[in-house]
Amino acid sequence: MPLSRDTLLQSFDALLQPERFKDYGPNGLQVEGKRAVARIVSGVTASRALIDAAIAAQADAIFVHHGLFWRGQDGRVTGWMKERLQRLLAHDINLFAYHLPLDAHPELGNNARLGAELGFTAEARFGEQELGFAGRAAYDHAAALARHVEQVLGRPVTLVEGEPGRPIRRVAWCSGGAQGYFEAAIAAGADAFLTGEISEPQAHLARECGVAFLAAGHHATERYGAPAVAAQVAAQWGLEHRFIDIANPA
Ligand SMILES: [Zn+2]
Repeated sequence: MPLSRDTLLQSFDALLQPERFKDYGPNGLQVEGKRAVARIVSGVTASRALIDAAIAAQADAIFVHHGLFWRGQDGRVTGWMKERLQRLLAHDINLFAYHLPLDAHPELGNNARLGAELGFTAEARFGEQELGFAGRAAYDHAAALARHVEQVLGRPVTLVEGEPGRPIRRVAWCSGGAQGYFEAAIAAGADAFLTGEISEPQAHLARECGVAFLAAGHHATERYGAPAVAAQVAAQWGLEHRFIDIANPA
């Protein structure tokens, strides 16, 4: 049985509570499509490739972490933005996007699911808007942790060892582009911090503070929340759901 778009939006909002966050773009329904939804496709980013795949899958709605609209954007519907919007509107597909609320959800969010994939025990939250997760881990040293992450995520990891040979007993993590959380992770007592991306300052901070820094890919660390949330809401209402992973080396 198809579900109304409004009820679907209420279900996502009830689960993810976007009103609790100060975000970089609008959370919820970003592009309005058909009134009734039977089939949802989830993905990381509302890219043209994902939209094309959702059209091929005859989706009525797309659920993503990275939507189309961000603060500070130019705002003109030209070029790549026109191409994406034209496809959504021509096929009457709803686009739902949740950014920080999807990172933060304690069981289904990007950080919770990433931690579960990696076998970390989440015990505490840290950093701005409490998006960072921290907990116990047991690795002889940062290189062993990096090997484990590479195996689970299936891609290379950039590792900057803090204090070589330091055992990893407490790990902190935050998916995506959370390199700015490194100092908060250090303050939270982490032996290692894992996120998606690294910028120049973090390598020095790692060496000077003795805490390992691991960058495992923005996309690779944010692949788990959208399908977890979409699957739960789809199951709740008897909708079809499929996660489509558009590979991204970043
Ligand atoms: Zn992201």
